[in-house]
Amino acid sequence: MKRIAIIGGGIAGLSAAYYLEKARRAGANLQWVLFEKSGRLGGVIQTERRDGFVIEAGPDSFLSIKPDASRLCQELGLGDQLISSNDASRKTYILVKGSLVPIPHGLEFMVPTRVWPMATTPLFSFPTKLRMAAELFSSARKDAGDESVGDFVRRHFGQEMVDRVAEPLLAGVYGGNAERLSIRAVLPRFAEMERQHGSLVRATLKAKALARPGAKPQPLFTSLKNGMQQMVEALTAALPPASIRLRQANLALRPVNDDWQIDSAGTSEKFQEVLLAAPAPAAAGLLRQFHPGLIEGLTRIEYTSTAAVALAYDQAELPAGHGFLVPRSENRKIMACTFVHKKFSYRAPDNKKLLRCFFSSSRMPDLLTHSDETLQQIARKELKDILGLTAEPAFARTFRWNRAMAQYETGHLDRVAEMEKIIAAMPGFHIVGNSFHGIGVPDCIKSARLAV
Ligand SMILES: Cc1cc2nc3c(=O)[nH]c(=O)nc-3n(C[C@H](O)[C@H](O)[C@H](O)COP(=O)(O)OP(=O)(O)OC[C@H]3O[C@@H](n4cnc5c(N)ncnc54)[C@H](O)[C@@H]3O)c2cc1C
Repeated sequence: MKRIAIIGGGIAGLSAAYYLEKARRAGANLQWVLFEKSGRLGGVIQTERRDGFVIEAGPDSFLSIKPDASRLCQELGLGDQLISSNDASRKTYILVKGSLVPIPHGLEFMVPTRVWPMATTPLFSFPTKLRMAAELFSSARKDAGDESVGDFVRRHFGQEMVDRVAEPLLAGVYGGNAERLSIRAVLPRFAEMERQHGSLVRATLKAKALARPGAKPQPLFTSLKNGMQQMVEALTAALPPASIRLRQANLALRPVNDDWQIDSAGTSEKFQEVLLAAPAPAAAGLLRQFHPGLIEGLTRIEYTSTAAVALAYDQAELPAGHGFLVPRSENRKIMACTFVHKKFSYRAPDNKKLLRCFFSSSRMPDLLTHSDETLQQIARKELKDILGLTAEPAFARTFRWNRAMAQYETGHLDRVAEMEKIIAAMPGFHIVGNSFHGIGVPDCIKSARLAV
């Protein structure tokens, strides 16, 4: 019988356990054990339910176009719990010189697709608007190498599009820096559009023209009625408790002949396969004693820390829409704020409001040294300055994640290819989760499914 160890009980490790258990129940001759360092499962997925509010500590949803997460929820019997983002009321603001300016209709991520809203928006200056029109005549870049998202967007639309759109949007997803993130790893669709069509505007318009007429548009984001933790709860319920070991803080992993030996809490066990589902810094720590090339690659993957401050209000005057993003050039501590009760239904009792403010170590290097109270005060001061919001919250919660957001910097995919070559020569060894091929929840589930 093949014995398989999973190290890490976030969504990647739990999904791996689920797919292995499914195979076992279908007759595969295997046994698996999941080792989790902390006392709980789910990793950064964690939901608090309080006074009728559903408060996400980490991810609040997943991209609907990536099918792995919805598919897994369906399999887990959560189909009737899936909810869509309220896209009809979607309006996101960008803070420009202290004022909130809505992202104009027809700006698809950073690609303008409609003339009138672009011509009239105060988000861009006249030279940027001319540049958008000229982009239609761009030709593909000769050099096929990687570059930063900042360089890529600047070549197409100029610096203002980097500062006011690409940078804050990416900061909202990665908590990182557009000047360092890799276009090929982070926005592969755009790199491919350029390769095929030269102009991103032409490519987007062509894709729209080819879209099936009358097809119902997919919601942008999908979540669960009672929060993302429902996935964790359903996965846990589908797994035999005896195969899950919590509080495994001091694991040691090493290859012994053709097996992998795991020492933990005074016991030593052999496995034929290991799925390492811990973030790259933790994975590098576990591999400390062997494969220096792999460790070097893993330690080169930067991770930023984030904090989310949730503020629940009985009453608060807010602009219409789902929230705002703050460009780095505004020199503020807050990176983004979501009006949670607007983005999704079932998040707050009737007429009450729930805001989530995001902070990242990429903008506040000392982020995690601040107490919860200090972070809440900073969040409230930022909301007062930006929204004029002075109401006293009914309660506030702060969630902090130490080095949890992988940053795929320029050259990431080449470094991953090198690491995958090393891993191919390590029989029975796999890395899953957010270090290599996508940090989104569906990406992590997919990495586990493929490894299994
Ligand atoms: C604040 C925040 C908001 C996000 N928002 C979204 C979003 O809206 N949508 C989206 O799709 N994605 C979002 N993401 C990204 C996504 O949630 C994560 O990339 C994904 O959940 C990571 O899952 P994982 O299992 O790979 O890692 P984690 O969730 O980090 O789990 C790793 C697990 O490994 C354990 N571990 C670590 N070291 C060891 C060890 N030595 N031994 C044993 N166990 C160990 C940890 O305790 C942890 O439980 C967000 C991330 C954060 C932090």
